[in-house]
Amino acid sequence: MSQRPKSAFFAHHPCVCDACAPLSRRQFLSTGAATAVAVPVIAAGMVGPVLAQPGASQAPTAGRALLIKNGCVLTLDRSVGDFDQADVLVEGTTISAVRPHIDAPAADVIDASDMIVMPGLVDTHRHMWQGILRNVLPDGSLDDYRQVVQRRFGAIYTPDDVYAGDLLSALGAIDTGVTCILDWSHIHNTPDHTDAAVKALVESGVRAVFAYGNPQNETGRYWELQGHKYPEDILRLRRQYFSTDDQLTTLFMAAPSAAPEFILGAFKAAREAEARITIHVGVGEFGRNALLEKLNAQGMLKADTTYIHCCTLNDTEWKLIRDTGGTISIASYVETLMGHGNPPIQKAIDTGIRPSLSVDVETSVPNDFFQQMRTVLSLQKNEVWARRLAGDKNPPKFLTAREVLEFATIEGARANGLDRKIGTLTPGKQADIIMLRTDRLNVMPMNNAVGAVVTSMGPHNVDTVLIAGKVMKRNGQLVGVDLARIKRVGEEARARLYTNAKLPSSRV
Ligand SMILES: [Zn+2]
Repeated sequence: MSQRPKSAFFAHHPCVCDACAPLSRRQFLSTGAATAVAVPVIAAGMVGPVLAQPGASQAPTAGRALLIKNGCVLTLDRSVGDFDQADVLVEGTTISAVRPHIDAPAADVIDASDMIVMPGLVDTHRHMWQGILRNVLPDGSLDDYRQVVQRRFGAIYTPDDVYAGDLLSALGAIDTGVTCILDWSHIHNTPDHTDAAVKALVESGVRAVFAYGNPQNETGRYWELQGHKYPEDILRLRRQYFSTDDQLTTLFMAAPSAAPEFILGAFKAAREAEARITIHVGVGEFGRNALLEKLNAQGMLKADTTYIHCCTLNDTEWKLIRDTGGTISIASYVETLMGHGNPPIQKAIDTGIRPSLSVDVETSVPNDFFQQMRTVLSLQKNEVWARRLAGDKNPPKFLTAREVLEFATIEGARANGLDRKIGTLTPGKQADIIMLRTDRLNVMPMNNAVGAVVTSMGPHNVDTVLIAGKVMKRNGQLVGVDLARIKRVGEEARARLYTNAKLPSSRV
């Protein structure tokens, strides 16, 4: 991508989040007092969510280093390998070394001797504006979701509702070890809705990929809505918020589920804005329309696109994705719940495509990314076992836990266009790191690190989270986040939304 001028937004946009007041070292140490013997000594400026500021947030800060000491380190970089016990040195925003016995006397230290140290998890598709609608549809199908979430609630969402949903979803992601997340944001009823989503993502401190999508209205025919600027407003977004990729928040186009002419318009606007693209395809019966063959006939399929779900694509479409270098995102848990079709894990592997993973909708699915890993592993194995039982003499190989861990990290980074920056603990990459407690009753004594993460762990094992070298979670608590304020923002948005929807506020 050509070099664009620096964005003024991040330098001048004041953060209103209470979380953004940096803690002093004394304040931080007092919050971490429960495990003070573990030497949780971290420079104040490295703590807590802050605005992503090009240059400022990306440049290593001289003299400020963080040494993660004596952890069981899964780098997921095959050329670096894993370590039963090693240290990770973070300087500024960057991983500068991974090996045993690093000597860095000037560094602040985190004792990771009861932890697995690994790359942060990467989600490649979540509709984060729905963060205030968590669990609203535990029994809903895809049709129910469209009617209730998109057309009923989405049509009346205010910009403040978008802000609240995105903020809750982003902080929830960090809390569960997801350090990078693609916000598949199709709530842009006005440009004010868009600004609210970007504001929340930036305030949260998560490494966010903002995928700019269509508005919502009561009919589902968004193009009839007055006041929206989709998709052409992406050019303003590029100018106003995303003039550089050298920041925590980057830009995608979320292409609509609509007739091909609308999809073509979104693809063209994306490429004009030099933004990568994400699109739902192969979803249920509607997904059997050979859409990718039609887009290919227009020369639209390129390596800059991530295809979500892909459950009911035909064989030609699968080959088109592979041959054009596209990436895919499987949201296996929601696909099993809501009628998208069989999660195409084996199909992707057979085609030679390594999938990334995604939560999709918190309206029906937990924000727990460990669940995504386990679902993929069990579904693929179940398929292989079923074929064996049916007499298949040449069944596929079983997926391994390590492969699933790669789907949840480096393959996610690839689909989000960030594999050169994140996804493995490779010296020179950005320090997006999670530390998972092994001294918990669900995993002790630890016998197999990859096995512990993929088959047994959950969000409660996430002790520490770093994003671009900043400590976002420590000792199991988000750092610098005023949870009372976040709860208030969520409750107020929910009350407003239910009132506007003329729905009773009862929760039972
Ligand atoms: Zn989706």
